[in-house]
Amino acid sequence: MERTLSIVKPDGVKKGVIGEVIKRYESAGLKIAALKMLWMTKEEAKGFYIVHKDKPFYDSLTDFMSEGPIVVMVVEGEGAISKVREIMGATNPKEAAPGTIRADFASDIERNIVHGSDSPQSAQFEVSYFFSELEIMKA
Ligand code: UDP
Ligand code: MG
Repeated sequence: MERTLSIVKPDGVKKGVIGEVIKRYESAGLKIAALKMLWMTKEEAKGFYIVHKDKPFYDSLTDFMSEGPIVVMVVEGEGAISKVREIMGATNPKEAAPGTIRADFASDIERNIVHGSDSPQSAQFEVSYFFSELEIMKA
């Protein structure tokens, strides 16, 4: 069983699509193994997105990610990392496939509703950024 970290970003929480995001994961046969709402500081957002520290969008992205509450969750299942990315759609909602979360709800390439880990390495880092082993339910 694979684990991935997904986030309903501040725009998704404001738009009221927390339940919609979770429903899409569960409908695809994925399990929610841990879940919480929190509000990141700018520093916490910078730490989470440290891989993007040299990108031109890093400052704006970390402002956005710390502008309001988010919902972080551990999603579990066979091929969870790629399944979640598929359900999310492309980073830029203009390029996201119809029926994906980003195509349906995102306003632009930054405010794109959801996050999902992109590899086993990032999933490991990202899950442990928010959750201890004790907080993650064992199947
Ligand atoms: N992002 C942005 N401008 C860009 C690319 C990305 O603002 O040109 C933001 C967007 O919110 C994205 C996040 O930075 O979700 C992380 O970028 P990444 O390339 O890792 O996209 P993701 O893995 O989220 O699809
Ligand atoms: Mg990414």
